[in-house]
Amino acid sequence: MVVVMAPDATDEQIAHVAERVESVGGQAFVSRGVVRTIIGLVGDIESFHGLNLRTMPGVADVHRISDPFKLVSRQHHPDRSTVWVGPKGHQVPIGPDTFTFIAGPCAVETPTQTLEAAEMARAAGATLLRGGAFKPRTSPYAFQGLGVRGLEILADVRETTGLPVVTEVVDARDVAVVAEYADMLQIGTRNMANFGLLQAAGEAGKPVLLKRGMTATIEEWLMAAEYVAQRGNLDVVLCERGIRTFEPRTRNTLDISAVPIVQSTSHLPVIVDPSHAGGRRDLVLPLSRAAMGAGADGVIVDVHPDPEHALCDGPQALFGADLRALAQAVRQLPPVLGRVDARERIRG
Ligand code: PEP
Ligand code: MN
Repeated sequence: MVVVMAPDATDEQIAHVAERVESVGGQAFVSRGVVRTIIGLVGDIESFHGLNLRTMPGVADVHRISDPFKLVSRQHHPDRSTVWVGPKGHQVPIGPDTFTFIAGPCAVETPTQTLEAAEMARAAGATLLRGGAFKPRTSPYAFQGLGVRGLEILADVRETTGLPVVTEVVDARDVAVVAEYADMLQIGTRNMANFGLLQAAGEAGKPVLLKRGMTATIEEWLMAAEYVAQRGNLDVVLCERGIRTFEPRTRNTLDISAVPIVQSTSHLPVIVDPSHAGGRRDLVLPLSRAAMGAGADGVIVDVHPDPEHALCDGPQALFGADLRALAQAVRQLPPVLGRVDARERIRG
């Protein structure tokens, strides 16, 4: 932390700042310039926060130098992490050496629709199945998901297809039941800053897929991940899913630079959701290619056997030739960039 003193700060004011810093066990390095004095602080940053440095006479500004997150930071853990998803005997990696393709319906609607979507996903090369049983809808009148019945369907489909399941939890009260069925808990964009939910997910004993809040900065997103990590769960995968901008042609604007920024700041894996970013089927392939090119550790996409009759997000769901084209890109592009297909690294 660096304290910048005002040009007219007195020697007493400078000494007062240094004394207060030392009173909480820190060290203050005073550097006197021609016009201004700056004081570099070394020590426990949280104890400096408690000093209210900004309110002290003669203090013009206070700057934080290190990142506010710790457990998810690469300073804490220099090597990038791999998160393993699935039951013992069939764990799928999401991390720096592999490329993980996750696909499935936006929402679980019926057993047949979910199974068909899962078969499509598997045939396209996906190693994990996505599908919402609890749906966080903007409108309270829209389909809210099948709830626990949807979780049962996902478990049955996992049994049939062998694909571990990632599904969303929208309420801290449901974490236990979702964790009972799911292999990975998804926290959606609307709940990224629901700190009680993040803490509950951090205690559930399952990996967490944490989507970026649609208006969240990268730092806020990583602080949300820190909430999960602080509860003892470092198995967090981040998912860039587009942010709100002024552009109405897409549902959200995919922030592709978030991928390398997160990877240089945090050790956690980061994947991209091109379906919820663009909200348009025709954009899923180009946005997926962009994600692969930017170095994402995977993609998560919506597929549906009959998008026209989908109860949720039909316009972005892939099927037929579009899904085949994406499957081909996933086979071809990541190896060029030095990654192996997650299917080849499944841990038995
Ligand atoms: C979803 O993946 O089904 C979903 C609702 O995504 P998001 O939270 O990114 O909108
Ligand atoms: Mn959706």
